[in-house]
Amino acid sequence: MELSDKVNTLLQEANVFEPPVPIKNIAVNWGARVLPYELGEEVSGILVYDNYKGTIGYNSSNHRVRQRFTIAHELGHLIYHVSDNSGKEMFVDKDFIIKFRSEKDYSPKEIRQEREANAFAAFILMPKQFIFSEIKKSKYKELSETEVIEEFAKLFDVSIPAMTYRFADLNISSY
Ligand SMILES: [Zn+2]
Repeated sequence: MELSDKVNTLLQEANVFEPPVPIKNIAVNWGARVLPYELGEEVSGILVYDNYKGTIGYNSSNHRVRQRFTIAHELGHLIYHVSDNSGKEMFVDKDFIIKFRSEKDYSPKEIRQEREANAFAAFILMPKQFIFSEIKKSKYKELSETEVIEEFAKLFDVSIPAMTYRFADLNISSY
């Protein structure tokens, strides 16, 4: 299933029709346990898959928007990278962006999986159709692009860099 179709199905099943996307509920609906953990400074999230059950741990000290991105990212791993015959699997996620500055430390499979989990997180926290219906509103017409992105980041409860990437990805520049 295409990533965007998968995301739309998850949103519909959770009756989510507008931002902010309640990512924790969606993960729980999928069958995951979602828990805060003391993970230290480096690790933002973990996914443990064991005995057919996924447990997502997010860093209890991180800012809320970071926690939301982490939960979405780990849910991406749970949906796409483990299966009933996986046995026991564990993903440990450090800073997703810094990580790719040293790609040589990671196998091509790991890099692909991290990119997929990040793409899933961006798609589900900032659904394309939610962005396009919001951007039509007249209140944005008088704002600069930076201001619009700030407003959208607040509304979708994501970081400004995450929303900036998403706008670029969706080719939003005039509205
Ligand atoms: Zn990851």
